[in-house]
Formats: sequence, structure tokens, C-alpha cells
Amino acid sequence: MDFQLQDYDPINGLKPSENCAVVGICGKDPVFLKIYTSLRTLQHRGQEASGVAIYDNGKINAIKVDGLVHEGFKPYIEKGLTPKGIVGIGHNRYSTAGMKNITGAGPFLISTAMGDMAISHNGEITNYEILRDELKELGVPFVTKTDTEVMLNLLARTIRQRGIKNGIKSSMEILQGAYSVALMIGERMYAIRDPKGFRPLILGKSGNDIIVASESAAIDVVGGKVIRDVQPGEVIEIFNGEITTLFTLRSQRISHCMFEYVYFARPDSIIDGTEVYNSRYQLGTNLAREAPAEADVVIPVPDSGRTQALSYASELKMEYSEGLFKNRYSERTFIMPGNMERDGAVKLKLNPIKSVVNGKRIVLVDDSIVRGTTMKRIVSLLRSFGAREIHVRIASPKIVAPCYFGVDMKTRDQFIALNKTDQQICDEVGADSLAYLSIEGLIKSIGMDKKSLCIGCLTGEYPVKILGEKEDVQTTLEF
Ligand code: SF4
Repeated sequence: MDFQLQDYDPINGLKPSENCAVVGICGKDPVFLKIYTSLRTLQHRGQEASGVAIYDNGKINAIKVDGLVHEGFKPYIEKGLTPKGIVGIGHNRYSTAGMKNITGAGPFLISTAMGDMAISHNGEITNYEILRDELKELGVPFVTKTDTEVMLNLLARTIRQRGIKNGIKSSMEILQGAYSVALMIGERMYAIRDPKGFRPLILGKSGNDIIVASESAAIDVVGGKVIRDVQPGEVIEIFNGEITTLFTLRSQRISHCMFEYVYFARPDSIIDGTEVYNSRYQLGTNLAREAPAEADVVIPVPDSGRTQALSYASELKMEYSEGLFKNRYSERTFIMPGNMERDGAVKLKLNPIKSVVNGKRIVLVDDSIVRGTTMKRIVSLLRSFGAREIHVRIASPKIVAPCYFGVDMKTRDQFIALNKTDQQICDEVGADSLAYLSIEGLIKSIGMDKKSLCIGCLTGEYPVKILGEKEDVQTTLEF
């Protein structure tokens, strides 16, 4: 996957979108190290900054650090300066350009008449600009341009007016878009998921600890067991070892992001009852059925195309080989903001293995193509190492439209697939043939009802009203 579009929109300025990780743990012993471990497990969801907020002695204290979790928190751990409280939340953030510092990192913290409040958020609030203007009119000051700060201030206001349960409900009736949230109000913790369930949020338990996390893998690594997914629209209170559903706001249309299964989430995570690895395996199988290629060997783009390439080869009884060596110490291109860093990272990242590639007809499998620059570079690299033919197979459909729900794909003009045929894309990346999985194949592979998935970036029709975009009313998706 060659991902990451532009972070800065010259017309609209900085975008609030983040691909983030959320963790919250409520226990009987200090929780810092468990939150830290969970955040390390979820590092793939954001590498630019991290934060932990812990309740202790009537106050919530936050530590925010730049960079990778283990590097940022190392000095605090080595010097024994970590907070000692037994309730806390954490956040990994993918930052936007111009905000590559911890100013915009979570958790966000404010002091209110009800005590300290802190929030970690994964997603994107589509009406946050309107809400920020309204709150500003009411005298609420803002220190960042993030939607998370807007959400926290809105929650603080409605909770002060209507109490915790009705206040959260009032805010949820106003907020639009995607939000999976861990919220602390003093020592009480809340797990909140938007009514369409765009981003994952999982509830688990480990001994005396109750955990919420963006992915089940973060619960596994602290020795916990998954209890269940937080349901779309559900608000759960976690306090004194008790888990209580306060209410569930129902939506007629659930919209789990298909991209979690295609690329984002760890393959060992189970999200909304579906194992990510299994979905990826099926994506490769269905791609093989839809778009077989005559070749000598199937090679994945590591790591994003690995599972799909394996099942592609298995389905067609072809040889599978790791023909590209990946430098495991290079950053994921998607996660690195800014063109310079991205280009540098691609060069550092991959090198072909000559004996696998030289003189061979290759099927090159990846999970998706957004801009196409990485794919172009890989095709050219393989040719320079003697590949005879290169047949590109993409285990998801064409991405042709922006995401408004927390994935930083914002401008149509950078999608390689926009208004192009497969042949035109093939020519652009320099391959001998190229094919994508169909939308039907994608839905079948994930194994969910089509009415439970968001596929807005594939169709340009969205499950939430977006100004200037078509709304998905499920009339064009009758497979
Ligand atoms: S538009 Fe695409 S990336 Fe965004 S939530 Fe929907 S499926 Fe996911």
C-alpha cells in the first residue's frame, strides 16, 4: 500500500483527520505500564505522538510525547516518573502537516466544574467546524484546530447542563461522523462509539482490569480476554470494576470502515466479530478467482500484501515467494507525513531478491493503491532486477473518493484510479497487466452484510450527509 495523501489542503488548511489508537484501562493497580504496552501494540495506528492521562488523587495528569511510544516514554519509565493512578486512557496519533508536535496529540484534558475530563479519540467529526464556531460564540477558547478538542468541550458543556448520561446523549445527537472514544470524567471511564460504528472499539478484561481499545490485539498483549465489541452508538461506563451500558443510540445504517480489514488493523485483531487475517486471506482468494494471471511466481508487496498474496497463490496453486526484502527498521510510508520523508522511506524500505525475480513472470500483489507512486517504483525496481513480466493484482477495489471519517485521503486529484481504466493505470505504473478486486468481491471477503460497511471512498457515496457529496442510501449496492 502506498498511502498517505497530502496533509495540508491549500484551500481548507489543516485537516483534523487522524488515524489513531485509543486505549483505556480501569483497574485496582497502577495502569500506566499496561496502557503503555497497549499503545505499543497499536503503534501501527499512529507513530507521530502518544499520550497517557491518568487519574490520581482527585486530578487527571497527562504525559504527551513525540515519536514512537517506547522512545517517547523511555525517560519517564527509566526515571520512575510514570503516574501511579489506577484509571487512565492513552492515545497514539498520526499527526497532520504543520502540527508535527504534541500540541494536537491526545489525550486532551480540561478542567471543569465537575472535575478534570480527558478524552482519546479515533475518527473524525464531520461537523466540527460548525460546532467550534458555535462554542467560540459562547466563549469557549480553543488551543488547537482538532475535532477532538471540540468534542471534549461540547461534552463538558452538555454534561454540566444535563448530567453524565443525558449530557453524553445530547452531544452524540449533535456530533456527526466517526468517533470511537475513551473518556474520563474524574475516575469514571466511558467507552463511546458513534452510532454507525465507523472505527472499532473493543471491550476486554484482564484480572481486575477492564480495558477498552481500538483493537483486540491490544487486549491480548496485556494478558486480557476480549469481552465484546462496544456496539455502534453504545455508551459504556466503567467504574469500580463494574461495566454498565448507559444507553445505545441506534442508527439504521451501520458503517464499519472496510479499510480496517483491507489495511489498517493488525491481522491478529478481531473487529466486530470478524478476524482481520481471515478477511485478508479471503481478499486474496477472491482476487485470484476474479483476476488470475499466468506467471511463474506470486510475490507480495511486504507487509501489506503478504496474506493476500499467500491466498492468491494457494487458490491458483502457484509458487509463492518473498521476492522483495523489506527493511524492518524503516517506517510505514502511510504513517509518515510529508513528501520528503515518504519518498525517502520508500527508497529505504524495499529491495528485490535477485534469484526470485530474475527472468521470472511475476504476479505482484498488494492490498490497495492510492497514489500509485510506490507501486510504480516497485515495478521499476523488479524490472531492473530482471523480471520478465509483472502482473499487478490489487486485493481491494479502486479508491476514487475522499474519506471524511478519519483516514487522511482528502483530495480526489491524487487518486491514481480516478477516471482511469485499468489499462491506463497499468500503463502509468509500468506493469504488463493490472487488475483490482471488485466491490462485490471485497464485501464477500470481509464477510459482513453490505449494509454494515462503509465503502464511501470506493463509490463516492457516503453513509453520512457530506456537503457536495452523494449520500449512500443503499440503492446502488444490491449485489
Ligand atoms: S470512506 Fe473509505 S476509508 Fe473512509 S471510513 Fe469509509 S471505507 Fe473507510
